[in-house]
Amino acid sequence: MLGLMQQQQLTTGSLIDHAARAHGLTEIVSRRPDGQLERSNWAEVSMRSRKVAAMLTALGAQPGDRIATLAWNRLPHLELYYGVTAAGMVLHTVNPRLFAEQIRYIVEHGGARIICVDPDLLPILEPVIADLPRIEAIVVLCAADEMPESSIPHLIAYHDRVAAADPIGAWPALDENTASSLCYTSGTTGNPKGVLYSHRSTLLHAYAACAADSMALSARDTVLLAPPLFHVNAWGLPFTSAMVGAKLVMPGSAMDGASIHQLLRDEGVTFSLGVPTLWFTVLDYIARNVSEDDRAKLKLDRVFMGGAATPRALIELFRDLLGVKANQAWGMTETSPVSTVCQPLASQMHLEGDAMTDVLATQGRAVFGVELRIENAAGEALPHDGAESGLLKVRGPWVLSAYYGNPAGADVDADGWLDTWDVAKIDADGFLHLTDRAKDVIKSGGEWISSIDLENAATAHPAVAEAAVVGVPHPRWQERPLLLLRLHPGESVEKPAMLDHLAGHVAKWWLPDDVLVVDDLPHTATGKLLKTVLRARYREHLGGVG
Ligand code: AMP
Repeated sequence: MLGLMQQQQLTTGSLIDHAARAHGLTEIVSRRPDGQLERSNWAEVSMRSRKVAAMLTALGAQPGDRIATLAWNRLPHLELYYGVTAAGMVLHTVNPRLFAEQIRYIVEHGGARIICVDPDLLPILEPVIADLPRIEAIVVLCAADEMPESSIPHLIAYHDRVAAADPIGAWPALDENTASSLCYTSGTTGNPKGVLYSHRSTLLHAYAACAADSMALSARDTVLLAPPLFHVNAWGLPFTSAMVGAKLVMPGSAMDGASIHQLLRDEGVTFSLGVPTLWFTVLDYIARNVSEDDRAKLKLDRVFMGGAATPRALIELFRDLLGVKANQAWGMTETSPVSTVCQPLASQMHLEGDAMTDVLATQGRAVFGVELRIENAAGEALPHDGAESGLLKVRGPWVLSAYYGNPAGADVDADGWLDTWDVAKIDADGFLHLTDRAKDVIKSGGEWISSIDLENAATAHPAVAEAAVVGVPHPRWQERPLLLLRLHPGESVEKPAMLDHLAGHVAKWWLPDDVLVVDDLPHTATGKLLKTVLRARYREHLGGVG
């Protein structure tokens, strides 16, 4: 017997309609390229996104067409998030921090005929546009009188076209399985691969991400949209914020400590998220420049971190400097991304100090909808006992089944499990402890050493701003760890002192064979340590290869 409830399709159009109806006057703040803030609200974004849909249709866009964007976290990009997807087109966000050839590859592979670009990012498009034969229209996200000089002819001014467009009426009725957005993996090895989200996966993910044991978002929150809109839909924040009617604050391209602090302070931000490196920068700025009284006035309540392991030192810094709860979450572009979130259980609420940090330093527990499995090399399931570590697999309704261009189901096994290429343990309470990327694990004399645990121990030293541990070929042990440190300005630390410090945190045979202080550490375009570069650079450092 079937139930007798309505079959409403879960679409981004229903989301922006709801935000306009229920939270129309809730503010949306956005930093312009000139640094000024501009203000809109959910009702206006809803209206403008209908005009955006009309404008794109007038340019020849059809349902199913990919519309590429090369843009920062600003109002026009948010309007495109809804104007493109709710109209049945596919928003293809491209990361402007990638190399020119990767950008060209991703835009070409996605197949867009229209690209929308921020005015200050035009110089990134100029050298590759001749090799993008499919692009027919380039919309610059500014007004005609703000249009920069460019070698590209026939640029279209976004604001003028949107202002002149007649907003479309109701959004088209879409099947919830229609594709809504396309985002490419960061591609540290091989070519980037496209992840094609659907309206259904996007909305289910948004419900899950809002829940109390996830981000606990509500209409009382002011959300700082720090993760880029071009990386995994900014963790779904444009959708979750519309779902609950949160105030949204978008920082544009100004991601320095002073600019972010200004938004936290002046806009009353309560919630944010992002990669750990961003928050180290922001907290360092606050520690050096903001008085204790002014820190106490900040309304920031909780910050989610993910994309890379969150060092314990950062969790403690949030607690001690701002009294803010730092929650770690784990996910991937392929998983929309929110999959696990670290929130303490009732039985852990009494924990304090190091014991609470022990909990918060894990990647947390699966949110409903996501299932986790760890496997040994033979593909056998390993117990969730907190001891055995293996390759992590994941499945769920907002987890990819095939990369863009492949047939559905092509990139998961027969039971729907997706390889994450992460190595992890899962404890009896279901907490995920990520130990490494599979390719970053250090294999020393047949045993595995966790680079994440070693980095965590190193960043607990007060002189250390950032740490990277890589496995380097070794004549006797196959590989041994090498520790690279970026220190806080004016600090110094010698190798013996660092090894002494680490000895208090990890097993003796894990201690790095060498410790080097470097001026800077390389990162990917999404803020992860670029260990491939470090491994290549230090390949011969321990005499392991001739
Ligand atoms: P991306 O697809 O760029 O979002 O990268 C996903 C990868 O980032 C995961 O497979 C992990 O290796 C890493 N990652 C994400 N969140 C965490 C976390 N909380 N701790 C450690 N690594 C993480």
